[in-house]
Amino acid sequence: MTGTVGADEAVRRRYDVVIVGGGWAGSLLAKDLGERGWQVLVLEAGNGGAETWPGYLDSLSTFYSAVAKVPNSGYRRSVAAPFPDVLDLAPVRDPEPGEREYTANGYFVQNGRLPYGTDYLRELGGAAMHWLGAVPRMHPEDFATNERFGYGRDWPITAADLQPWYARAEFEIGVAGNAQGQRELGVVTDPDYVFPMHQIPASWIDRYCTRLDGTPIRDEVADEQYQLKVHSLPQARNSTPNPDYRPGPYRPSSAVGLPNYGERCVGNASCVPICPVQAKSHPLRQQARFPRTVTTATRCVVTRVRLAGPTMGGRVSGVEFRTYTDPASPVGRSHVVEAGVVVLAAHAIENARLLLFSGLANGSDQVGRNLMDHPTVLNWALADERRGPVGPFRGPGHTSGWEVFRFGEGRRRRAPFRIEIGNWGWGWATGAPMSNVATALGVGGDQQGEIRPDGVFGPELRRLLGSTIGRQLQLQIAVEQSANPGNRVTLDRRHRDATGNLRPVLTYDLDPHTRSGVYAARLVAARIFQQLDATDWTNHAPRDGVPPLGHFTHTVDGTTLDLAYSGAGHGAGTHVMGSSPRDSVVDAFQRTWEHPNLYAVGCGSMPSIGTSNPTLTMLALALRSAEQIHQDLVLDRRPADVRPADEAEAPA
Ligand SMILES: Cc1cc2nc3c(=O)[nH]c(=O)nc-3n(C[C@H](O)[C@H](O)[C@H](O)COP(=O)(O)OP(=O)(O)OC[C@H]3O[C@@H](n4cnc5c(N)ncnc54)[C@H](O)[C@@H]3O)c2cc1C
Ligand code: SF4
Repeated sequence: MTGTVGADEAVRRRYDVVIVGGGWAGSLLAKDLGERGWQVLVLEAGNGGAETWPGYLDSLSTFYSAVAKVPNSGYRRSVAAPFPDVLDLAPVRDPEPGEREYTANGYFVQNGRLPYGTDYLRELGGAAMHWLGAVPRMHPEDFATNERFGYGRDWPITAADLQPWYARAEFEIGVAGNAQGQRELGVVTDPDYVFPMHQIPASWIDRYCTRLDGTPIRDEVADEQYQLKVHSLPQARNSTPNPDYRPGPYRPSSAVGLPNYGERCVGNASCVPICPVQAKSHPLRQQARFPRTVTTATRCVVTRVRLAGPTMGGRVSGVEFRTYTDPASPVGRSHVVEAGVVVLAAHAIENARLLLFSGLANGSDQVGRNLMDHPTVLNWALADERRGPVGPFRGPGHTSGWEVFRFGEGRRRRAPFRIEIGNWGWGWATGAPMSNVATALGVGGDQQGEIRPDGVFGPELRRLLGSTIGRQLQLQIAVEQSANPGNRVTLDRRHRDATGNLRPVLTYDLDPHTRSGVYAARLVAARIFQQLDATDWTNHAPRDGVPPLGHFTHTVDGTTLDLAYSGAGHGAGTHVMGSSPRDSVVDAFQRTWEHPNLYAVGCGSMPSIGTSNPTLTMLALALRSAEQIHQDLVLDRRPADVRPADEAEAPA
C-alpha cells in the first residue's frame, strides 16, 4: 500500500475515481482500477491502524480482553463513525401478545416485527475484518427463482455470465477448496477448474458426520426426500497451493505489516473476529498491494454525493465528507473532493443511507428496499456418549455441510437452506464453553446439556467438562430470504448519530415462504440428530418468560413450532440491480440508472442471495464493474488531472 493520507492531502487532487469505503468491494475495485493507471481515492470512515503489525496485535488483544466475544469485539466503538453491534439487541421479558419481543439500542433504529440481528464494521477493511471467510459460489437456480419457482426477484445476468469473474475473485482473495465437490453440486461449471489452494482439511466433526452419507432424510414441508452427503466448503484462508492451478503457481498471501508472517490455517478457531496467524483472508492484504495510483484516506466519513450542474445529464461531481482526529469525539471538519466516477462501496445499508440522504438514484422508489440477510437457525445436540468425543472447538467455524436442501422443486414450498456442520461446539447457540464452565462451577452460565450447577472443582470439573463439551454438535442452517420491498432502510430526521448524520431506520420481518424454510430446517436438523443417535437440546421456546432473540411461531399443516433465527451478517439487497430503471436502482454493471458516473457496488446490488454466503458473488460483480468503469473512463478520455496544491479546494 502507498500508505494512508490525511484529508488535507487527499483533496489536493481531482481523481478519476473516488471510492467510498475500504472494505472488500472498495479494495478490489481500487486495486483493479489503480493497476490500469487510473488515479483512485479511497475514502474510508474507519479509524485505520490494523494495516500495521502493532495495529493488528492491538485488535487481537482488544478481542482477548473483551468479556463478550462477539464479531465486533476486536474493534473499539467509534463516536465519529458509529456502527451496529449484535449486543445492541435484547429480548423483552413476558411480551404482550402481538408486542415486539426485542429492543434495539444502538446505531440502528429498528421498528420491524422481527429484529435485524446483523452487524457490520466501519473500520479500514470493513466487515471482513471480522468475517468468517466461507466463500461458496451461488447456484445457477439462485439467479432465476421467480421464473423457476415463483418467488423472489430475478437477476439481469446468469451464473454463466459470472463464472470467469468468480474465478478471478477466488484468485484475488485466495480461496482453498475442492472444485470437484463444487462441480457435483452444479456450482462450478468449468470441467478443468481447480481452486488456487487445496481444500482446508475436514474437521473431526465433518468426518464424524460422513457416517450419514447416503442416508435418506424426509423434508415434509418441501414434500421431498433428500439423500445426505457431506460436502466441503470453499474457504478464503491459506492452505496448501494446488500445483494444478492455472495460470499458477499460486502463492498464499502473507500478513499485513509483517510480510514474512501469515501462516496456513492451523485451526485456532477464532476466525470470527480475528485470526491470530492471519491465515484468514481480509481486504488489508489487497490494500498492501495497491499501486501508487491509489490513495487511501482514513477517518473520512462521506456524508453526501454531489450532483453536477442541471445540464450535466444526471452526472455526479464528487462527494462531501467529514474528517475527525479522535474516534471518541464527534468533532470534525468538512471537505469536498471531485472525481470523474463515484463508487459507493460502503456496505448495503450505508450505500442506501447515502443515496437516500443525497436524494439520488431513487426514481424506482427501490433505494433502501428489499433488505435481506440469511436468517440462521441454530440447532444443538450432544453426540452419543458411547462413540466418544467429536472434537469441537478446532478449525474454522465450519468446513463442510449438507447442501442438498439448497436446490430443486422443494423451493416452491419453502425457502431453501444450507446446513453448516459447526466446528465450534455450542458456542454460537449457548455461549459454550465459557457458559458450561460457569454452570459447572455454580456461578451462572446457561444450564443446558448434561452440566448441572453442582459447584464441582479440580479433576471432577475437568472430567465433567471433557465428557460433555467434547460431544457438542451444532448445525447452523442458513435459510434464503428473498427480496421483499417492505423490508427496508429509511431515514428519519429525528434519529441522528453524535455527528449529526442520520442513522439507518430498519423495518424487517420474515415472509411466510422464509418462515416455512426456517421451520423445515429445524425439523431436518432434528432428524439428522436422530440419525446420529445424538440427544437434541435445541430449544427455541421462551424460557422463564424470556423469548430468544429472533423468536416467532409458525404453523405448517396444523402443527405450530416455536422457532428462532440469528443474523448472519449478510446484509444485501438495498439498491438492487435489474433490467429496467422502473423497478431497480442499478443496471447489470451496478451503475445507477439515473446517474451515468455513479456506481453502487456490494451485496446491496444483489436481487437474491440464494443460500451462499454472499461475498464471493459480490466480489465477482465488483470486478465486473471495474471493467465497465474502466471502459467508461476510456470513453470519457479522462486522464488524471493533477492540480497544484494552491488550486485545491480549501477545507470548509
Ligand atoms: C460476523 C460476520 C461473518 C461473516 N462471514 C462471512 C462469510 O463467511 N462469508 C461471506 O461471504 N460473507 C460473510 N460476511 C459478510 C461479509 O463480511 C460482507 O459481505 C463483506 O465484508 C461486505 O464487504 P463490502 O466491502 O461490501 O462492505 P463492508 O465490508 O461493510 O465495507 C464497507 C466499508 O465502507 C466504510 N464506510 C461505511 N460508511 C462509510 C462512509 N459514509 N464514508 C466512508 N466510508 C464508509 C466502512 O468503514 C467499511 O470499511 C460476514 C459478516 C459478518 C458480520
Ligand atoms: S481456524 Fe484459526 S488459523 Fe484457521 S483461519 Fe480460523 S483463526 Fe485462523
